[in-house]
Amino acid sequence: MHIIRLNAKSVFTSTKIPGARWVINQYVGCEHNCLYCYAKFMSKWYQFGRWGSWVVVKENLPELVKGRHVDGKVYMSSVSDPYQPIERKLKLTRRLLKNMDKSIELSILTKSPLVLRDVDLFKRFEDLEVGLTVNSFSRSIEKVLEPLSPSSRERIDALRVLHENGVRNYAFISPIIPGLTDLRLIIEETKDFTDFYWLELMNLKASGKEFRDWLRRNHPESYLTLSEKDRIEDYVKDTTTLLREENIPVKGICVHHLRSRSFNIYRI
Ligand code: SF4
Repeated sequence: MHIIRLNAKSVFTSTKIPGARWVINQYVGCEHNCLYCYAKFMSKWYQFGRWGSWVVVKENLPELVKGRHVDGKVYMSSVSDPYQPIERKLKLTRRLLKNMDKSIELSILTKSPLVLRDVDLFKRFEDLEVGLTVNSFSRSIEKVLEPLSPSSRERIDALRVLHENGVRNYAFISPIIPGLTDLRLIIEETKDFTDFYWLELMNLKASGKEFRDWLRRNHPESYLTLSEKDRIEDYVKDTTTLLREENIPVKGICVHHLRSRSFNIYRI
């Protein structure tokens, strides 16, 4: 893994991520190296090689964040996982959280149970939520799509531990691939200890050619459902019915447009 250390000029960047106003990225690049990662477009600006082979570490962010306040929700992180393996050694996310104004409204998203290390800090924030990305991919699909991420089982266990510690949590069911994602199973396994849910259908456009080719070749029906407007609408309708039956708190279902960078949020 190629580690690039640099100093950032700013801490918070405005964002269009649903429900958030700002984003903070202490890392750029991600060791988890998911095949569908939407953030791989960052390789255009950071030309250090193949996505997943490098991580930029913004070393000065814990100092830069001191005394800074922004109004509106801050989302951590959009072009990396704040608890990817290197965090265990560098503790950059931990140092950042330590120095951050605790009145900042913060939403953290990760695929790693390493997040549990920082429960003591989460408890100091006035308004904080921690999300774990969950999907019900089989182990063989996980090996292709999320080769270096902790398993879905570990993420679900992390949601439970957050709940037991009084930290508001959410399950980010994403990326949903019709035919490969079992929503009923995820809800069954998480609803007893999950405060709320966000859902997101796979963004085919952002997922990259390698992923699209893999999906088209191995799961043509899933590919068709994600690439035709009428089929997407049917899928969202069925999902809405299911979520209503399950009667769980859902903030929304995010569906990306096929040919633009915009998206719709469907409320339940
Ligand atoms: S964990 Fe998130 S940021 Fe990291 S490679 Fe996977 S999708 Fe990308």
